[in-house]
Amino acid sequence: MKLEVKTLRYLTSDDFRVLTAVEMGSKNHEIVPVHLIIQTANIRHGNVQRCIAELARRNLVAKECTSKYDGYRLTYGGYDYLALRALSKRGTVVSVGNQIGVGKESDIHVVADADGHERVLKIHRLGRTSFRTVKNNRDYLQGRHTASWMYLSRLSATKEVAFMRVLKEHGFPVPIPYDHNRHCVVMEFVDAFPLRQITEVAQPGKLYAELMDLIVRLAQSGLIHGDFNEFNILIKESGVPTLIDFPQMVSTSHANAEFYFNRDVECIRTYFRRRYRYESALYPKFTRDATREFSLDVKVSASGFNRKQLKELDEYYAERGEIAEGEGSEDEDEESSDDQEEEDGTESETGSEEQTTSDDEEGKTKPPTATPTTMSVPLVDELVTIDKAVGALTISD
Ligand code: ADP
Ligand code: MG
Repeated sequence: MKLEVKTLRYLTSDDFRVLTAVEMGSKNHEIVPVHLIIQTANIRHGNVQRCIAELARRNLVAKECTSKYDGYRLTYGGYDYLALRALSKRGTVVSVGNQIGVGKESDIHVVADADGHERVLKIHRLGRTSFRTVKNNRDYLQGRHTASWMYLSRLSATKEVAFMRVLKEHGFPVPIPYDHNRHCVVMEFVDAFPLRQITEVAQPGKLYAELMDLIVRLAQSGLIHGDFNEFNILIKESGVPTLIDFPQMVSTSHANAEFYFNRDVECIRTYFRRRYRYESALYPKFTRDATREFSLDVKVSASGFNRKQLKELDEYYAERGEIAEGEGSEDEDEESSDDQEEEDGTESETGSEEQTTSDDEEGKTKPPTATPTTMSVPLVDELVTIDKAVGALTISD
């Protein structure tokens, strides 16, 4: 899904009013009736039609006809626009550069803030139609209006940012969260490479111990990452790991906590065995009664979430996981990491992200080489400035 930043420049404040009206209307309507858009936008009738046509032309809204009425729904593009506009008003994102990652459920861009600092923009895209589970997802999403892609993506971003804040405050190696709006998170750009791309580690035992220690410290704080794999661990040139990707984190009080904890541990053990030929008899085991040092899970829950929301997101991730597991091995790139290692040594892809580098193929079939891993910084070759002067309406978040 392409982020059309340039669009931001061309919309008038009336266009924006109409777009906002569609967003507001979609809280109660799957397809927002035209009369409701006209009523909410509160601008001249004739103008509304013109604005809608313009928004539809730019793919920010899409026309849908039901048996009862004609209406519009907000597209991902429209939602992106609204979020970016809010972020640009606050100066946390004023230009958008290269896309540096495409996860199954997010797009990652390098962006710049008003002071020219490089940041990462993570756009959450839950329930997007590009992966094979589309049918199941549609069925799932259609059943409940509140579980629409917009709602889930926003919830996922909100949850991620809440976890990042708490983790950062407690000294965990995670990116600094700077801002958040709707389904978008602005965070520190970590100048590092995913462990997946590191072909050789000088002291695998040391890194292994550090990562296991991280899993244990999280659990002692009441948390389990839930997707602790080689794609979500970034390694700086100094060798220091940074953990990313938090929407699926669960509390150690979760009913399946032990399963998630063991899966995280197993993921690292498997990866180190395959990739670095490193194996250790030492690995942490989950004990439900372990004394906690903090209760960060409780702290996060207290920061603007209700149980129902967390449960909904939880269900989504659990359901997605089950669907992926049930799909068989041909769907390798799209599976979330699991604990079923191929004992015959076939190296199937089990990470949860789509691959973004071509040298991955090579790396996974060869034993580690003696050559150091090349590290290159993602270059921002196209900076698109967001025009902050567009429109005069303020978005209330
Ligand atoms: P997803 O939920 O789709 O897996 P992630 O948060 O794991 O999304 O990000 C996907 C990829 O984008 C990561 O594997 C990493 O390469 C890159 N990335 C994400 N966040 C950052 C960051 N803060 N700094 C640098 N790279 C990042
Ligand atoms: Mg990830």
